[in-house]
Amino acid sequence: MASSSFIESGWQYLITHFTDFQLACLGSFFLHETVFFLSGLPFLWLERVGCFSKFKIQGKSNTAEAQEKCIIRLMLYHFGVNLPVMIFSYPVFKYMGMSSSLPLPSWKVVLTQIIFYFILEDFIFYWGHRILHTKWLYQHVHSVHHEYATPFGLTSEYAHPAEILFLGFATIVGPAITGPHLVTLWLWMVLRVLETVEAHCGYHFPWSPSNFFPLYGRADFHDYHHRLLYTKSGNYSSTFTYMDRIFGTDIGYRKLKALKSAAVEDSGEQKNQ
Ligand SMILES: [Zn+2]
Ligand SMILES: [Zn+2]
Repeated sequence: MASSSFIESGWQYLITHFTDFQLACLGSFFLHETVFFLSGLPFLWLERVGCFSKFKIQGKSNTAEAQEKCIIRLMLYHFGVNLPVMIFSYPVFKYMGMSSSLPLPSWKVVLTQIIFYFILEDFIFYWGHRILHTKWLYQHVHSVHHEYATPFGLTSEYAHPAEILFLGFATIVGPAITGPHLVTLWLWMVLRVLETVEAHCGYHFPWSPSNFFPLYGRADFHDYHHRLLYTKSGNYSSTFTYMDRIFGTDIGYRKLKALKSAAVEDSGEQKNQ
């Protein structure tokens, strides 16, 4: 296929001009920063100018100072925590068989590995997140992420360094076990960043492709988690909704949704009368 040969020649260029270490560590860091800020910054702008306000989940908005504080801290943590994690986890990935050479893996292999990473990450995240909502850990660690009760995309990675390490572990444990090709690792990282930015974007767009994925959490699901007190929040999963459903931690959210849809039906009936 022309597209696959295009990707392969692009990859060939990368592996002839950069070392494996440069691509796996610095390349991953650069790709992460690019995707994160390009996908997150538009929501910050939307909130400032008040565009698409009819799709905004909450009526409240953040001040410019609060938004700027988030960006400064993010830069500090990305260089001080994320980059060292990428560098120090490199030998583990190499040991587990990660490669960057050609040929590239088939789409079937890439897709299977990524689905596995999503399921595993969601499972670890769910239990870790529930533990982060216990009193001591919430007060000393997780409350940093909850400083923003009205999330705006970039807040997805705004967290205490200890939490960044824990979430980093949940994200890389799947790839660390399977030792994938670097191209799979990059695709996983991009999808994961886009997913968390969307979960924190503060808007529910009816045309978002994620509306059509089965059992997928979406922005409204995680936004609810940020709106409530830490002991009552629920909705702990990162990607899917089934863990919260199975363990009954989405009761409050489902009640609220039922009340909202009943209110919409009531107002529809009143209009028709
Ligand atoms: Zn939380
Ligand atoms: Zn969050």
